Amino acid sequence: MSQLPVITPELLHRYNRPGPRYTSYPTVPAWADGFTTADYVQALGQVAQQPDEPLALYVHLPFCVERCHYCGCNATVTRHAHVVDTYLDRLEREVELVLAHVGHGRRVVEMHWGGGTPNFLDNAQTRRLHGFLARHFAFDPRAELSVEVDPRIASPEQFAVYHALGFQRVSLGVQDFDPAVQQAIGRIQPEAQTYASYAACRELGFESINLDLVYGLPEQNEATFRRTLERIIALAPDRIATFAYAHVPWVRTNQKYVDVTHLPDAPTRMRLLHMAIELLEAAGYIWIGLDHFALPDDDLAIALQERRLHRNFMGYTARRIPHVLAFGMSAIGDLADTYVQNDAKLGSYQKAVDAGQLPVVRGHRLTTDDRLRRLAINHLMCNLELPESLSLPEFGGTLSDLLPDPMAQMETFIEEGWLTVDGERLQVTTLGQFFLRNIAMAFDAYFDPAESKPLFSRTV
Ligand code: SF4
Repeated sequence: MSQLPVITPELLHRYNRPGPRYTSYPTVPAWADGFTTADYVQALGQVAQQPDEPLALYVHLPFCVERCHYCGCNATVTRHAHVVDTYLDRLEREVELVLAHVGHGRRVVEMHWGGGTPNFLDNAQTRRLHGFLARHFAFDPRAELSVEVDPRIASPEQFAVYHALGFQRVSLGVQDFDPAVQQAIGRIQPEAQTYASYAACRELGFESINLDLVYGLPEQNEATFRRTLERIIALAPDRIATFAYAHVPWVRTNQKYVDVTHLPDAPTRMRLLHMAIELLEAAGYIWIGLDHFALPDDDLAIALQERRLHRNFMGYTARRIPHVLAFGMSAIGDLADTYVQNDAKLGSYQKAVDAGQLPVVRGHRLTTDDRLRRLAINHLMCNLELPESLSLPEFGGTLSDLLPDPMAQMETFIEEGWLTVDGERLQVTTLGQFFLRNIAMAFDAYFDPAESKPLFSRTV
């Protein structure tokens, strides 16, 4: 564990600006206009031509019992279980529509259920969803299955069902234990509920438990966040994520209930992050990329050490699966160098599927330049380095040959002490890790820093 650098107010002032988290490149707002279903079908056709390539699946389950003020997800509030049954009908139909192009029985090595709140589904609905996916795909016996769980509505029986179905990874939403913060974000979650969920998962023997925290929330201060962190560390989860709160009420209207006068200012946000890193590293966690922490024997920490970490819409992952098929409202897929996103409105998503149409509304086919920049950004965000010799035969050169302008900008970051030169490699320093998004932005050909209504959180 190294001594963390001091981030001066001046440095913060110069570089703290809205910027993407780069779970994709290009980021969703930059995707090209005019993407059509035919483009998606073409990408699916390419997947079909590689029948031995394994697949990853993402399933979006959007339902929640109420909308948290801070939420940035595509979620739908309902109290009615039958709405889920109707949604599952459409999900299965969507799977059939996609598989008509890809072929049945494809091998799946990874699956993630996200939301919304996947555990809004009752046990019969969970079994039904898993059942029809297992009928349509061939799950590898060692496939990694993961699910996001809201402890407020979780039960030991639910966890037992996930475990029996083969889920080994659980991610529990916590955000912050402090009652004033919970009140301010419209999410009351007594600590006991989180502890009960955590204990149930440990008792069942899940391989990996992740806890999600958020910093930059209203009412948060160093004293209260320290207390949350200490309690989380005492549980010793395998992974901890500390996401930066992005206040963008012009995109997420539910955030208008967040009182901006109670949001921590930039220096406080930095102190919260700084403290989180300090406490987590002192407890033995490895800082992964932007906002993840993992125990040294966790897959993510090992993948970082072996420089084979990857990043996708779910965050960091220990292996790269060439194609991610995504199902459900607003779900984002990544296949055959093409991103696709489904309709984010429940009604129109279901209507499209009922009409026998793929419910895709936007997408982006990566150009050669996009793929090269994505490679550089992923290297930075995951492996904290930029090999000068990073090249693939198809690109026909090194990064400096092919992207001279962004590579020239790296000189500034070397002067700032964010990068060091190590042979042919530019290595991100600990100081640079705080500004990872700023470094990555130099490679982004689409990002407009002058955007008056930013879509992204601030970089630190
Ligand atoms: S934060 Fe989670 S539980 Fe709250 S509304 Fe969003 S998706 Fe639902």
